[in-house]
Amino acid sequence: MADLSHMYREIIMEHYKHPRNKGLVDEEGYNKHRIKNPSCGDDITIQSKVEDGIVKDVRQDGSGCSICCASASVLTEKLKGMDVSEAKHFADAYLDLVAGNSYDESLDFGESKVFEGVRKFPSRIKCASIPWKAFKKTIE
Ligand code: ZN
Repeated sequence: MADLSHMYREIIMEHYKHPRNKGLVDEEGYNKHRIKNPSCGDDITIQSKVEDGIVKDVRQDGSGCSICCASASVLTEKLKGMDVSEAKHFADAYLDLVAGNSYDESLDFGESKVFEGVRKFPSRIKCASIPWKAFKKTIE
């Protein structure tokens, strides 16, 4: 992460040390999806609950590198409360952002923008992407 700016690193480390919405719940109405990234050891599960077309709750659990875990933490805060199509659109835009593709720049990325830094490190793109890919599976 040496090339990521200081501020970006601080946000990632803050979420890594204090993960938001961590731990899965055993309740009705939740869908979950798990994705592993063997090349890095990341193993992340995302759980979401949709009600009346709104993402009412998003949980995350698992282990992995700081980028993957921080990305999962940021995701839960960002997508909670969005309607499903908005959340899917946001996840797609984020995946394009980190992959170095063109993306919808009109969106308010907030803290999720820090992961733009991984586009310079192809091996880390997967780390920053798998929580968002897992989330999309939970709302399909
Ligand atoms: Zn990783």
